[in-house]
Amino acid sequence: MVVAVPQGAKLVLATHNKGKLAEFREILAQAIVDFDPASVISAADLQVPEPVEDGISFAANATIKANALAQATGLPAVADDSGLCVDVLGGAPGIFSARWCGHHGDDAANLQLLLDQLSDVKDPHRGANFTCAAVLVVPESADQKGRVVFEEHRMYGRLLHQSIGEGGFGYDPIFVPSQEDEPGGQGRTSAQMSAAEKNAISHRGQALRALAPQLAQLF
Ligand code: IMP
Repeated sequence: MVVAVPQGAKLVLATHNKGKLAEFREILAQAIVDFDPASVISAADLQVPEPVEDGISFAANATIKANALAQATGLPAVADDSGLCVDVLGGAPGIFSARWCGHHGDDAANLQLLLDQLSDVKDPHRGANFTCAAVLVVPESADQKGRVVFEEHRMYGRLLHQSIGEGGFGYDPIFVPSQEDEPGGQGRTSAQMSAAEKNAISHRGQALRALAPQLAQLF
């Protein structure tokens, strides 16, 4: 262990995003009796350098992040990595989703470049999915067997020709979840849904909920 962890912490999530931490705690609260939110901390609570995400798949990058935190803290760690995979682009932007325009984290430029690239692509060929890999790394200890648990889930849909909606982030304003993923949906983009509505069907929500039974064993 190389960093001090707050007393009572049992699990660490590899994110600096407060919204993601809150969403993760809610999923755990539904899976664990008497769940104490303070028992789950995030990378933002610790002085741990961010690892280089040089994997070539969502799973590899999530594993790099979870391993780095588990090694630094000695705690079980969860990380997720996600992106948009467009059918007609052979799965791109994929792991390059956050830096598709050439620099990292410019959501508006990433979305505009994708729209331009697809401008001639007709509606029947605008299928896409958001994919999320979630990984749990449990370090070997006196009372726990070391293990790695992996889940990968998708939210399928199609891409519009222009943005609609103010919510969400990234490519949400051009992504309409499929009827299968949003039963009874009215063709809204994921940027037109509330956070709770999106979490109920999203790639990330599905992947983290799928890990919940394994996570419950740690409490
Ligand atoms: P991250 O791994 O969750 O940080 O996602 C990487 C990138 O994929 C983001 O910067 C977005 O461009 C895209 N992305 C992932 N999940 C979503 C989503 O739920 N909505 C919109 N864009 C997303």
